[in-house]
Amino acid sequence: MTSLPTSATIAVIGAGTMGAGIAQVAAAAGHPVLLYDIAVGAVAKGIAGVKVGLDKLVERQKMSAGERDALMGRIKPVDHLDQLAGAALVIEAVIEKLQVKHEILAALERAVKPDAILASNTSSLSITEIGAHLRHPERVVGMHFFNPAPIMALVEVVTGVATAPAVAETVFDTAKAWGKAPVYAKSTPGFIANRIARPFYGEALKLLEEGAADVATIDAIMKDCGGFRMGPFELMDLIGIDVNFLVTKSVWEAFFHDPRYQPSLLQQEMVAAGRHGRKTKRGWYDYHPSAEKPVPKEAPPGPKPKTIVLSQNPALAAGRGAYDPAADLAVLAREAGIGVTFEETAPDFQPLDDPFAPPRGGTQFASASGIGGEPFEFKPSTAEDRFEPYAETTIGLDGCRVRLTRGTTGHEPGWREPDDLPVVLYDLALDYRATPRIAIAVPAGAPRTVMLTAAGFFQALGKRVTLVEDVPGLVAMRILAMLANEAADAVYRGVCSEADADTATLKGLNYPAGPLAWGKKLGWHRIHDVMRGLSLYYGDPRYRVAPPIRRWEHAAEAARNA
Ligand code: NAD
Repeated sequence: MTSLPTSATIAVIGAGTMGAGIAQVAAAAGHPVLLYDIAVGAVAKGIAGVKVGLDKLVERQKMSAGERDALMGRIKPVDHLDQLAGAALVIEAVIEKLQVKHEILAALERAVKPDAILASNTSSLSITEIGAHLRHPERVVGMHFFNPAPIMALVEVVTGVATAPAVAETVFDTAKAWGKAPVYAKSTPGFIANRIARPFYGEALKLLEEGAADVATIDAIMKDCGGFRMGPFELMDLIGIDVNFLVTKSVWEAFFHDPRYQPSLLQQEMVAAGRHGRKTKRGWYDYHPSAEKPVPKEAPPGPKPKTIVLSQNPALAAGRGAYDPAADLAVLAREAGIGVTFEETAPDFQPLDDPFAPPRGGTQFASASGIGGEPFEFKPSTAEDRFEPYAETTIGLDGCRVRLTRGTTGHEPGWREPDDLPVVLYDLALDYRATPRIAIAVPAGAPRTVMLTAAGFFQALGKRVTLVEDVPGLVAMRILAMLANEAADAVYRGVCSEADADTATLKGLNYPAGPLAWGKKLGWHRIHDVMRGLSLYYGDPRYRVAPPIRRWEHAAEAARNA
């Protein structure tokens, strides 16, 4: 353990939202804290803000008046950087401008002792670049707190190219001693949490843009089925659509315009219209007192089935062990008094339009040498030579089948159903028992009775049924696959460890589950399928599969077979 002793002085530069909060955190841990700001009155305002917060804790008996006074007594205002000479750790939380941070750090380098650590709370600038002009860039490190700093547990300890490992370790251990949940991140755009979170907004905006569902429906699915505290549109309204747009744009630019992070034109229009969310009383929602709250789109009541038929191809499913939501639904059906029977599909069951299978049945191709070469023939695909399958159960109802989305649409489901019944796709839920809602997509042209039959089944399980358009991956599955894919990519590129990717989203974003833990539970092959399905449907490199996903699936398969 190399955390700084509580006797070590912590200096905080910038007494705004973050600086004041960080000063409170360090003082709460017992350190003497020095707070500096360039703006007249800013330090006093910051300290007064801390007191208001602590007074509330005293009122609610979460802290004694004596503890509050002792904490406040440890925060001292300073009006010149020279007064920081005794600080062991300086955390800058000034405005997000590289030039300003350069100037501050250059002045600090002259003011503090040679072994003092210089940390930056930047959310988007490169730690390498921030420290580059110093004589000793090895003592510069990112210490990225989340807002509000006294409440949010995550601290990203960001290392630049020159950061000394011992410096990062001291900051990591110190954050831990302060009761925080630190993670290590390499200096890359968005670090961990702000990078992994991008698809939560970006994919929701894509879905809205293509008319897959409206704002209230997408939010309801992500909250009820995905287990998120707020839907993406509610959260954008809270953060500020303008702020969220700027962060997205800066990450996209920092990644040299990688389409995975491309900002949304819809969002740009909202910014231009001045509809910035709660603060302007108008964003994706209308916050005027007279405004009507939009409700998610729901299916009318359908009939309760007497029995359902579960069908599964044994060759594809046996021993795979991947999580199969249909099994959960079958349990719920039984509890609802619905009969459950099983059938095995024909042994020659073949995937249709399987994006991973080579072309089947005698497709002729010219040889690689081209002109005059002998054509060769691809062998028909079999279950064995395909990329590993997972348990995939369809639920047979009267006149249709219901199946979990795998990244294809309902009208091209990717699987030949022996009786050619229409396939209604259902969306992912974090917990099928707990979710009050299930989203379904009915293929275009299917008779209304198909929608009513599928809706009736889920309604009989006590669920509200939300209708979305027949788009690949539907809503929750698509956004979650993108989050898991993004987390996998961050790990692959050495930004962070697998554990830290999940910790960052749990502790910095309040996600209901880590995207990698979720990917493991669902089976990486399923995430792979959804991503590939999206990629084939849209032809957009935005949906490219993160490289480690195949490797993880292979490892999981090997472990299951061992
Ligand atoms: P803020 O505007 O609330 O506070 C910034 C403070 O820095 C102001 O009081 C300003 O007077 C002061 N300042 C500006 N130039 C200065 C200088 N040269 N010397 C000393 N003080 C100076 O901003 P904030 O939201 O607290 O953000 C501060 C930093 O924290 C930024 O780098 C930001 O990216 C990062 N951050 C913000 C959040 C957030 O949600 N607000 C979260 C994590 C990180």
